[in-house]
Amino acid sequence: MELSFCSKYPFTREAKELMSSAKVDDEFQLNELAKRRVVAAIKDGKIPFVSIELDDSQLLMQVASYAVSRVIISLLKSRYYTNRYAIAEAKRAGSYMQSDSDENVLHAAKELGVECEIDGSYGVKFQDYLRYAPKSVDYKLVNKKLAKGIVRLRRDGFVRLLEEAVKMKIESELPLNTDNATAAMKNAADAVKAGIPKEPMPINVPLERGEFPPCIVKLLEDLKTVENLNHTARWALAVYLLNAGMKVDDVVRIFSTSPDFDERVTRYQTEHAMKRGYKVPTCSSMDSYGLCVADCGVKSPLGYRRGRVGRSTA
Ligand code: SF4
Repeated sequence: MELSFCSKYPFTREAKELMSSAKVDDEFQLNELAKRRVVAAIKDGKIPFVSIELDDSQLLMQVASYAVSRVIISLLKSRYYTNRYAIAEAKRAGSYMQSDSDENVLHAAKELGVECEIDGSYGVKFQDYLRYAPKSVDYKLVNKKLAKGIVRLRRDGFVRLLEEAVKMKIESELPLNTDNATAAMKNAADAVKAGIPKEPMPINVPLERGEFPPCIVKLLEDLKTVENLNHTARWALAVYLLNAGMKVDDVVRIFSTSPDFDERVTRYQTEHAMKRGYKVPTCSSMDSYGLCVADCGVKSPLGYRRGRVGRSTA
């Protein structure tokens, strides 16, 4: 595979093999590039897209910067930063995949353990689909074409699946053992730490009062344990909290612990939900979104809260 392939998909075996034999002379520039890569991933949630028209030495530098970035992120010793970094790397790879050749995308997919056959659409094995499909109503199996154990996807859906696979691969490989990290890498990690936002503190929502229904408790706990909630889950949680009387600022603060948190987007969506006066989804809708986790005997998650209040004041 070409150097440009390794630059676009530095998590692949080819890229690792390349780095085991290649030598980068300018260590200073390499550490600077890796620092920028990590800071951009954590601060902005995305890694700048670089042209594949770069010359070979610049492409090699890109691949090497991925390797050094992984050491830097490991030195930060934070699951939150690691997850945020993995998401940004996955989005970067997905951006390339959107316009790359089928040959390259299928090759990267194979490296990620996702076999695919193209027959007008992208056919993925049922098991791979279940493993990597985003947890969103759009990706529920009932909304997909499934025949003979193969799920058929359009290219954007296939790439989204692969982004999830890239994220999981990177997260599973980190942190690295940093015993052999050079002084320059440690300095780079210190500089990164000084240039990124502090890790958000979990917001204490009074779960112990038993006010919240199990589905909402689960979503709040997923946020605390740095799980990435999909769009539907975020929307349901935000709408529930607003309807339960929470202010927009407090809802935004609750979401700030999520690794893919983007304050501007979260605030916009929360204010939008407030202005439109969205109602909390019914329990049967929550069930169809895959968000119902218990049989509470109510029709709406808000009904559970009212039931609790009613019981405690009776
Ligand atoms: S039954 Fe309703 S309130 Fe209870 S977990 Fe399911 S969606 Fe939530």
